[in-house]
Formats: sequence, C-alpha cells, structure tokens
Amino acid sequence: MKVLKFGGTSVGSAARIKEVAKLITDRGANIIVLSAMSGTTNTLVEIADYLYKHNVNGAKETINSLEKKYFDVIDELLASDSSRSRARECIGSIFSHIRSFTHEGEFSQVEEKAILAQGELMSTNLMDIYLHEQGYNSVWLPALEFMRTDHNGEADVDYITLKLTPMLEQHGDADLFVTQGFICRNHRGETDNLLRGGSDLTASLIGAAINAEEIEIWTDIDGMHNNDPRYVEKTEPVHELHFNEAAELAYFGAKILHPTCVMPAKVNNIPIRVLNTMEPEARGTLIYNTVHSRSIKAVAAKDGVIAIKIKSSRMLPASGFIHRVFEIFDNYNRPIDMIATSEVGISVTIDDPLKLEHIIDELKEFGTVAVDYDMVIICVVGDLEWHNRGFEARAIDALRDVPVRMISYGGSNYNISFLVKKEDKVRALNALTDHLFLQGK
Ligand code: ASP
Ligand code: MG
Repeated sequence: MKVLKFGGTSVGSAARIKEVAKLITDRGANIIVLSAMSGTTNTLVEIADYLYKHNVNGAKETINSLEKKYFDVIDELLASDSSRSRARECIGSIFSHIRSFTHEGEFSQVEEKAILAQGELMSTNLMDIYLHEQGYNSVWLPALEFMRTDHNGEADVDYITLKLTPMLEQHGDADLFVTQGFICRNHRGETDNLLRGGSDLTASLIGAAINAEEIEIWTDIDGMHNNDPRYVEKTEPVHELHFNEAAELAYFGAKILHPTCVMPAKVNNIPIRVLNTMEPEARGTLIYNTVHSRSIKAVAAKDGVIAIKIKSSRMLPASGFIHRVFEIFDNYNRPIDMIATSEVGISVTIDDPLKLEHIIDELKEFGTVAVDYDMVIICVVGDLEWHNRGFEARAIDALRDVPVRMISYGGSNYNISFLVKKEDKVRALNALTDHLFLQGK
C-alpha cells in the first residue's frame, strides 16, 4: 500500500478535485491524504483573527463568503441530487460548527485550532462523496481518531499504527482510503494540528505507521529542482536524493517538501516520491536511502535570517564562552541555524527576531555584539563528504563576486552553507547554477 498526498492547489477547485480523483482511482487501494482546498486554511486563520480581535461581524462575513465558495464547488463537482444533498448537509454542518465559535467574549487557542481543522475535513468529505458518486468504494478515515501528538508536540507513530491498522482491516474491500492531512489531537485530546504545511508530515507519519511501500507527495512542480525556479531560469528537477540531502534542502528553503516530513520516512526507510499533479507521467524526485556520490545536487535559499556576532570581551576560556552563548539562545528557545567560530568570537544565525532584544542584552554582558538583519542562507547540497576533493572549492569559487558573511561546512556530509545579504541572493543563486550545473554542458 502507498500513501499519496495532494496539496491545496491540487484540490483547489471542482475541476482539480476531479483530476485528482482520476489519478488516484487508477492506482489501487492506497491511502490518500488531502490538504484543505487552497486558500481555505488562510481564510480560517483570518476568521480566528477576527474572533481574537472581538470582531464577530468580521468573522461572520468571512464565514459567509467561504461557505458560498464551498456551495459553488458542490454544484460544479457533483451531478446527482443525492450526492449534492449529502455534500450540502455535510459542508453545512461543518459551517454550523465554525459559526458556533462566533461568540462574544474571549476566544481561545483551542477554539482557533478547532476552526483550522475544518478545511481538511471539508476537502476530504467532498472527495469522498465525489468518489462514491463515481462508483468507487472509498472509505473516509477520521485523522482525529488516529493522529496524535505527545507532550512535546511530536507525533506518536506507535499510536497511529495501533489505531489505524484495525480501521484499514475493517475495510478490506475498500477501493481506496481518504484522510485529512495537517489535523491531529494533542496529548490533552484537543483538536490540534501539525503546523502550517503539515499535510506532508501526515503522509510521512502514516507511511511510517503502516510500513507503506512508498510515500508520494503530489504537488504542482515536477519534483525538487536543483535551484529555485522563482529566481533562476534554467533549473531542472533532481531525480534522486538521499533522505539527508532532501532534509537539508527542505530545511534551508526549498518550498516543495515540509522540512519535518523527511524524518519519519528516513527512520523507517520508506521512499518518498515528489510528483506533479499537472504532469503525472513526469519522473519527479525519488528520495531514498542511497547517495549518488561525487556530485552537487541542488541549491536552496532561506530568507529572513539574522546574523549575530559576539566577540568575547572577558578572559573566558573558549569552551566556556561558547557554552554561555548557546545557553542564552537556549533559554529563549531560539534554535540556531548556522555557526562559525574563531578564537575570539562566534557568529550564529537565527530565523526569527522573537525575543532578540533580550538575547542581545544578555550577550552584551560578556562580549561585544553586532547584528546583521535581512540575511539569506544559501545552502548547497550534495555529496560533500570531505574526502571528495574540489566540491566545496567549486561552490566557493562560484560566489567569488558575492560578499559572503559566513560559511558553514563539515556539519554534515551533505551541505555547505553561505550567508549573504538579501540583495545578493538572486545573484548568488544564479552564479551557483552557472558554475555548478550549466558550465561544461
Ligand atoms: N492546510 C494546511 C496549510 O495550509 C496544511 C497543508 O496544506 O499542508 O498549512
Ligand atoms: Mg505544502
């Protein structure tokens, strides 16, 4: 059995839902994970935002226009009166549930999460009703009954296996299963989610839990590209990546896969294939447990990075100094992305300015501090095992005309990262494609 995940754009309209239905019914009894239709989760966030701000009318108007959109989709998607009325009843009751939160008084985070969960519940119900109308024995699986996170907010794969296996066995004659990405319950049993973009993680967790043959992430591009197509003209899909290479790329900016989704697949050694809904026959990207050595595979960029340089002004031994610096970031729960050290100082980067002033104040107690905002991490991924000579030199050489603030290499066998200014990002990405992928072609 495979797990096939389709993102919001892939199910973004009645026509797209029909195309996905055709695609999945050709492929046998698999588990289909769907995101909410594109734009829905953002609208649900907006509704919650009105409610936090006590603007109940703002929330109600937004709900009304979202509901209208869904009723239009129903009319376009479904042909028979019986499936239309089934869908109207189902979507109608979901909207009544959303409206039950439009009360005066304090609006809570628990309520917000309950609202955010409705997008995936709607898209999967519509797909399920459409599949039945087309004559398929589709089984709708309630993610809230098997997807759960623990005290640390981490998903519990054993629990998923325990709950999901009997559900699948009970429907041995199903043509396919349809379930919701993104949503789960937390350790208190409340409706919660796996964070924005979390449907990829749902697919990976289900794949791990049922020991799937493969996890397919269906999106609107023909795989992970060797550079960012928004900024570089001649990019190409990378056909094969090791789990670790894909994880580095996803973390450092490639928007195709959610960074957290590689881990469950990697641990359980289940291949992930990234495929294109618009071009189903294209090869896409296979992410698995094999490294194609001696090659640089891809480049990605992560924006909004802040670099902080601390120069020790006390006679602390170097190890004590580094320990103190890390402790401060840790106390504020700020993960560090890149690090460069020297005898007298250390530079680190973070990707969120939250609590930054406090952090700087504390750092200033034992060093001089300089901060650079609006920086970008450019991450070059491939087989960069240190015995393989010349690869890091090629990457550095490509950036010879770009001012580089930091370099990080050797943290893993798979990447070398550069920190550059925001205004140099596009130039740096293009220079890397020219030098690493196009030269000699
Ligand atoms: N619907 C959720 C979001 O928009 C989850 C997902 O699409 O993966 O973030
Ligand atoms: Mg996504």
